[in-house]
Amino acid sequence: MTKIVVANWKMNPQSVKEAENLFKEVSKVASKTKNTKIVVCPPFPFLFISQKLKNKKIIMGAQNVSIDEGGSHTGEVSPDMILSMGAHYVIVGHGESRSRGESNEIINKKVLNLIKFKLSPILCVGESNRDKDGAYLSFVEEQIKACLSGVPKSQMKNVTIAYEPLWAIGAGAQREATKEEFMEIKIFIRKVISDIYDSKTAHTVPVLYGGSVNSLNAGYFAKEGGADGLLVGRDSLNSKKFEGIISALK
Ligand code: PEP
Repeated sequence: MTKIVVANWKMNPQSVKEAENLFKEVSKVASKTKNTKIVVCPPFPFLFISQKLKNKKIIMGAQNVSIDEGGSHTGEVSPDMILSMGAHYVIVGHGESRSRGESNEIINKKVLNLIKFKLSPILCVGESNRDKDGAYLSFVEEQIKACLSGVPKSQMKNVTIAYEPLWAIGAGAQREATKEEFMEIKIFIRKVISDIYDSKTAHTVPVLYGGSVNSLNAGYFAKEGGADGLLVGRDSLNSKKFEGIISALK
């Protein structure tokens, strides 16, 4: 499976100028890259940049979508709008959105809305605590089952799962996961998908790791840990660091 590296810019940078500069630098990196899919997910107001500064090696993604298709929903962004900006992927269920109250039920509606419009959800799952009794496994199982409810088997080829334990992501991260922790959860995620659909379907779904990924641990997760790709937050905002992550996958 071709490895995927997803840059989640979150609510950064703060101006169009800075976003264009970052996109230009990432474009240079992407142009030199072979055999890795590079997905850039800027905030909505900067999605237009990829249309202005075209780069065929970069696939665009968004960081959210409405549960609705259009109409009177102030502040919302529809799947069609995202499609018309040339984006293909959409991150849903990110831990930072969940911590602001986004439920599995809402995330499920977003996934279904994306699927309907032929957009590809990157569904984030992950626990806030790794307890010794393994309750985190049933927590992740529930997230996957609830968020994929009603998604037909035929559409699972468009779904990517990102395992992002909350204790490993963002500025408040306690630590990154270990490769053993990732390997265990990857097998578990595939088992859950296999239980819902079948084992063939489970093996087509890329399972990414996200949480404090940097150029030093990228190879560890993607090669030794068997991650199908990486979801990168902080170190996607610096093109040199991002380049280091992509190079580590070679
Ligand atoms: C994230 O929040 O999606 C993430 C992976 O962040 P970071 O790489 O900064 O831990």
